[in-house]
Amino acid sequence: MGLERVGGRVQRDAGAVSEGPVARAQADSGRGARSFPRATRSHLHAVVASLPGAVLLEDRQGRVVFANEAFCRTFRLCAAAEELAGCECAALMARVSPLLAHPDVAAEDAGGPLAEALAFSVEELTLADGRVLEREYVPVVTNGAAGGHLWIFRDITRRKQRERELVRQATTDGLTGVMNRRCFLERFAEELLRTHRFRTGGALLMCDIDHFKGINDRHGHAAGDAVLKAFAAVAGATLRSIDLFGRMGGEEFAAFLPGCDLADAVRTAERLRCHVAAAAVCVGETRVALTVSVGVARVTAADEYPESALIRADRALYRAKAGGRNRVAGEQGPEGGP
Ligand code: GH3
Ligand code: MG
Ligand code: MG
Repeated sequence: MGLERVGGRVQRDAGAVSEGPVARAQADSGRGARSFPRATRSHLHAVVASLPGAVLLEDRQGRVVFANEAFCRTFRLCAAAEELAGCECAALMARVSPLLAHPDVAAEDAGGPLAEALAFSVEELTLADGRVLEREYVPVVTNGAAGGHLWIFRDITRRKQRERELVRQATTDGLTGVMNRRCFLERFAEELLRTHRFRTGGALLMCDIDHFKGINDRHGHAAGDAVLKAFAAVAGATLRSIDLFGRMGGEEFAAFLPGCDLADAVRTAERLRCHVAAAAVCVGETRVALTVSVGVARVTAADEYPESALIRADRALYRAKAGGRNRVAGEQGPEGGP
């Protein structure tokens, strides 16, 4: 029962279950009935039926030897588990595949020759309703030959949600919802590689809200937080979706504009500056005005790592501050010109 291949296959062990309970259960369809007393076999049946998750045992001809009730529940089958015994797995697959997020991939993956799949593996399957299943595949070996397939499916949706939430928390600034410093620098480093590979260049903006300490002091920390959120919202609305934007710390933010030359980037920064100056934040009855200063650096093939471009953008930002704030400064060339 191939179903869908989503995550990378994890090969843990080239070995297989040999002559174990499952193999015996499988062999019962042929010569194995004499191998264990009836009481032992029914005990083994109960053990397999009680395995955590949905269980399906398939024989070497591609027929269902055994499925448990959890299998029927997981795949929304309106049948008792015993009714599945003897079914063609390919037919079962056809009933189940509409539940998968990518049934076409599943169809390609279904039913390979047993000899090709003699290794334990774990994969993730995504269902169309959002559930994520972990599928363990255990090849069943009888007398050294491929004897069948054991599939165990576990619902790992909640675990995946927790993982996604942890990733979100680790990469996002809690206050503004934009990328945090670490995430921005990682993504910027990746963009640099792409920029160099395709010779597209780009520009880096370093933004710092003006007199922010004064805003906190006059209107309170909550008002300062509202200003930070407002700035992030204005920047999000002004920049392109392909631009990277993140909070570097405090009231400092950075943006990377792929494919922009210095003149384009200065124009974008100027637009951002104007939008910010027009976007006051209301705290109770009070209207809190904000302005931003922006330093702009071109990003070229000489910038192997983010640091060099960050230093030049910081220098330009310093000049914007020194020039009176609420202004944009582009980095200067070697002779002091743009
Ligand atoms: P400049 O115009 O030169 O940039 O001056 P500034 O006042 O903006 O800069 P300064 O570095 O003196 O002050 C930054 C202040 O930002 C100090 C710090 O308490 C405040 N701050 C840092 N993080 C936060 C935050 O998350 N929320 C709030 N409300 N304030 C913060
Ligand atoms: Mg600052
Ligand atoms: Mg500041």
